[in-house]
Amino acid sequence: MNNIDLRSDTVSWPTPAMREAIAKAEVGDDVWGDDPTVQRLEAMAAERTGKEAAVFVPSGTMANLAAALAHCQRGDELILGHLSHTFRYEAGGVAVLGGIHPHTITNQPDGTMNLDEMEAAIRPDNPHFPRSRAIFLENTHNICGGAVVPPVYMAGVRSLAERHGLAVHLDGARLFNAAVALGCPATDLTRHVDSVSFCLSKGLCCPVGSLLCGTADFVSQARRARKLLGGAMRQAGVLAAAGIVALEQMIDRLAEDHANARRLAEGLADIPGVEINLDRVQTNLVFFSLAPWVPMEPAQLIERLDREHNVKLGSRGGRAFRACLHYWITPERVEMALVGFRAVLGAA
Ligand SMILES: *Cc1c(COP(=O)(O)O)cnc(C)c1O
Repeated sequence: MNNIDLRSDTVSWPTPAMREAIAKAEVGDDVWGDDPTVQRLEAMAAERTGKEAAVFVPSGTMANLAAALAHCQRGDELILGHLSHTFRYEAGGVAVLGGIHPHTITNQPDGTMNLDEMEAAIRPDNPHFPRSRAIFLENTHNICGGAVVPPVYMAGVRSLAERHGLAVHLDGARLFNAAVALGCPATDLTRHVDSVSFCLSKGLCCPVGSLLCGTADFVSQARRARKLLGGAMRQAGVLAAAGIVALEQMIDRLAEDHANARRLAEGLADIPGVEINLDRVQTNLVFFSLAPWVPMEPAQLIERLDREHNVKLGSRGGRAFRACLHYWITPERVEMALVGFRAVLGAA
């Protein structure tokens, strides 16, 4: 990777070890249950999340949608944060394809939702109302700056859900970033939920794929949903092989991305005109904005960083930006990116 691409962790390329594993992967028709590499990856994912079973799907979006379809029927209601990925960025799939009614609760800046508000959102049994059926959590929370949602909060949601007979799903696209930041196994988070999805294709560097994990019964429902959605794949072992490398080699090193995020954030904080809350930088995502007095349009900053310094940066709308750290952004590249920011913002 010869540019410094901070737009997302999804831009990360597969590692050399992944390309080698892909070349050598044993495969079969996974729709017929014949692909040993997919089966191995699914078993590893189930073990890592402390669940009975797992299913390999093409994307995090499909993992969350399959989870919703497995937990809910048409006319059921899903409680989720107004800043959650499922509500904001998944094309309304739960409503479009599932007939599921999304009921949003305000996300706090730390990625949580107020538990009293959540409880008040749960519907009594009455023909006027959709049936409350499931709660979706997100950890780390993307729009809330990559915030780590603490296990104790998740336990609180779980006990509330149990009292009302609701299922809890965790959108853990960056589950392992949360676990590494907390210094705990992922199971300390996932034991508070019925189902969990996580992405292989973000900080874990795989080319494609997510896993959806839960009880054997839930996963067999999710497999049916995957087929319905067109996501059942044939010799998917070539993709799963990269996933196995990710689970074996790429989790513990996420701490390096977190350290690099901190370096970048501290460097940005020293540049006049950059507004950033360092307390909110907890994992591999760095959110910041251009002060209103800086005589530069956000698009200009993005364009000049790209053209003059080979740095690619993502816009968050208005004067806000998100930079994502990943395997291909080494500490040296963080320094190079900061040189670019300083030059463009006139602080060199
Ligand atoms: C990226 C992401 C997803 C969806 O993953 P895709 O593979 O891009 O479909 C879901 N939830 C969160 C929090 C994400 O960041």
